[in-house]
Amino acid sequence: MKFVAQILFFILMQIIIKTVAVNIKGRIKFTYNSANVLTKSSNKIKFWRNNTTNNKLLNAQREEKRISFNGYADILIFNCTQKNFFALTWDDGPWRKLTEGILDLLKLKNATATFFIVANRLLWEPYRQVAQRALKEGHQIASHSWNHENLNQKVTQNRNCTELKHQVLDSDKLFRAKLGVSPKFFRPPYGKIKKEVAQTLKLWDYYIALWNLNTFDYKWKELDKLYIVEAYNQELKNEDPSYKKLDSYISLQHDISRNVEATIERYSYIIDLIREKGYKLVTMGECVGKEDDMYFKKKINYKKKKCIF
Ligand SMILES: [Zn+2]
Repeated sequence: MKFVAQILFFILMQIIIKTVAVNIKGRIKFTYNSANVLTKSSNKIKFWRNNTTNNKLLNAQREEKRISFNGYADILIFNCTQKNFFALTWDDGPWRKLTEGILDLLKLKNATATFFIVANRLLWEPYRQVAQRALKEGHQIASHSWNHENLNQKVTQNRNCTELKHQVLDSDKLFRAKLGVSPKFFRPPYGKIKKEVAQTLKLWDYYIALWNLNTFDYKWKELDKLYIVEAYNQELKNEDPSYKKLDSYISLQHDISRNVEATIERYSYIIDLIREKGYKLVTMGECVGKEDDMYFKKKINYKKKKCIF
């Protein structure tokens, strides 16, 4: 009798496991039901729309951003050098679930992207493994400083060259030690970089990468990651002649979210939309025609680096 009960229990467990597995599989099918998602958050969407569909305002904001780097915008990278190139970039990772989900998705879609990594995350084995996987799968690893310090505050205010070296060069040492490559592309945390710091990094042979499509995904709490879809729709589906579309894009998003599944669904929709509109997905290196130059070939001579402030 006990034996029969054990068999019945085993069969029951199998049924439960299968049901759960089918359910999960169904849910991560990467289908994006726009109507469904949009209805769920109609109020929030309305808020987002009201804040973004003013094309003149958007044009002006873009212009304002360039002006804020007045006099040195030419040493910063905002766009690709080739028409119809589209560089997807993710900042602040790697994390386990979402970054791995993105890597799964990119593999499924046969696409490449760039991850601007906060270097000290590589000190943790699980995150290091994710970064190693990204590199192995053909994505570009780029630097996003040692610990996400605002360079304008910590470095510039006190003319602190030692701090800049820590944020940039110590990161590179760690990248090389843990991943075997030192990234040549650097993105300043918060997109904040003053002229003297930018000029110093240029002198040190870095490419300073910013973006021209901000998804503002960091502004919204978990479920509001929906807005990222709207940011892309606004940009790529915008037929208003008053809106200045760009020839190429570098988009900014963050691989941080607890709502992994929904976020991946949205990224899936976004990748399809980008391609549907005729863009080619590229790494940052390809974006600026420097794919052979994505990483430093030689070890960096730490002592030789001087700040020009
Ligand atoms: Zn960041």
